[in-house]
Amino acid sequence: MTGLDVRDVTVTYPGRPPVVAVDSVSLTVERGEILALLGPSGCGKSSLLGAIIGTVPPASGAVHWEGEDLTAMPVHRRQFGMVFQDGQLFPHRTVAGNVSFGLEMQRTPAAEREERVAGLLEMVGLTGYEERPVTDLSGGQRQRVALARSLAPRPRLLALDEPLSSLDASLRARLAGEVKSILLAAGTTAILVTHDPDEAASIAHRVVQMEDGRLL
Ligand code: ADP
Ligand code: MG
Repeated sequence: MTGLDVRDVTVTYPGRPPVVAVDSVSLTVERGEILALLGPSGCGKSSLLGAIIGTVPPASGAVHWEGEDLTAMPVHRRQFGMVFQDGQLFPHRTVAGNVSFGLEMQRTPAAEREERVAGLLEMVGLTGYEERPVTDLSGGQRQRVALARSLAPRPRLLALDEPLSSLDASLRARLAGEVKSILLAAGTTAILVTHDPDEAASIAHRVVQMEDGRLL
């Protein structure tokens, strides 16, 4: 069965006339598939991603996961994860504290939490960084912590909105390969939003292009 099924989703913002950011978009993502949504700034990528994860209410259309209609389900109940461009780490928490956050929310027992955090830090190449304040990390290390944090609660879908865009070009190219291996190792279904064709091609199984609120 198809993992994610987005049907005729439209997102509008108030204005005169209203802004149609996403114009009746349909797409599916298979379980375990990494899909890239590629398009220029302002074409509606973040709005579409928001409608999928539940932070942006669609004006019309529906979002299903394995046949279940999620359209009216609040963000926190969808079991979807999110990684943003600037990581949005908790600055007052250590590396381990950031990664364990979602597990604490799920009331995972401490021993299991520690084991899961250690496994994720190993996966993103940050073993030994557990007690570091996240404010001491480089941009690339911060994004790897953000990735580990979002994967910790085992989301059924991970949405990544320009996760490497704040990094410089050489680091971006290197991390793209790492992100792909990490996503494959986790087996997570993922949607990557980017304006960078190289990044889309090096991370995703499949690339769809977006322009002016529509898929090409
Ligand atoms: P992208 O992520 O591809 O850069 P966005 O989804 O952020 O595109 O934006 C698509 C369009 O919707 C743009 O014209 C943008 O100005 C507009 N838009 C995005 N967010 C809002 C908002 N909160 N209020 C009004 N207009 C918005
Ligand atoms: Mg955006």
